[in-house]
Amino acid sequence: MKRINFLVIATAMASALTLLSCDKDRANNPIEEPSLIVEKDVLNKISALHFNPNRIEKVMISDIDGTKKAMYRIEDDIMLSKSQIMDMGLHGGIQNKQYRTNNLVTATNVIRVVGYTGNNQHGLSATAKTGLQYAVNNYNNENLRIRFQLSFGIRWRPNDILVYVDNSINPDPNRAAGIAGFPSNGYPFTRVRINNGANLTQTNQQLEHLLAHEIGHCIGFRHTDWDTRKTCGENSNERVGNDGLVYIPGTAGAGGDPKSIMNACYPANTDGEWSDLDRVALNYLY
Ligand SMILES: [Zn+2]
Repeated sequence: MKRINFLVIATAMASALTLLSCDKDRANNPIEEPSLIVEKDVLNKISALHFNPNRIEKVMISDIDGTKKAMYRIEDDIMLSKSQIMDMGLHGGIQNKQYRTNNLVTATNVIRVVGYTGNNQHGLSATAKTGLQYAVNNYNNENLRIRFQLSFGIRWRPNDILVYVDNSINPDPNRAAGIAGFPSNGYPFTRVRINNGANLTQTNQQLEHLLAHEIGHCIGFRHTDWDTRKTCGENSNERVGNDGLVYIPGTAGAGGDPKSIMNACYPANTDGEWSDLDRVALNYLY
């Protein structure tokens, strides 16, 4: 069956996942940039947090206003800053299942989501806007403690989740789908970037799935199949050890949940809807 990775779209072979660490533009870039070698203290901390240190990559990310900063990409579609990594608590830093980070959205009950509609390379397509509306509806239909307020436009505030097109997450429009990050300081991660390939070619149900998934990271979900990545056709593990990982009560556990929105990859024929166990996890955490 055709599978879509959040950074590797359907037709790419599973082996293409290993290409994610390639950065063809780096060598010819005349601007002096900070070293993109992942520092040893970061690697050590990543291991201690049970992320897979072989799946970390340091990248320079441009924000929508053009400012650049170094971030660490882990597990293919999650962005963390160095301070987020270094400040992440070891005890239960990554715990629970469907897996969540220690940091959840605790500082607010209202999460504003802005679908960017600027008339430039960052604007969402009509289909992506529909997918985003569906994704936000899916969260709100669960009647969680947190409520999502969706608007479309070109303005956003500091703690809003801004959803926009950003081809810099991967230079190949056929390989990148979306990327986000984890909460900090009680607020959600504030950027969901999707590639223009996803923006223009995915169906509204695929985009519903993709955007619900990335927003899931923004509020603290890790991948449901972190232990195998089997939805990507892999048998790899996103973590190193066992301790510190605890089930969210009532979710699938090690057997996995093939229908979870939070799996690392998703089928091309996704309906974009929560699995029953996604609902359990959402309602448990929020
Ligand atoms: Zn993901």
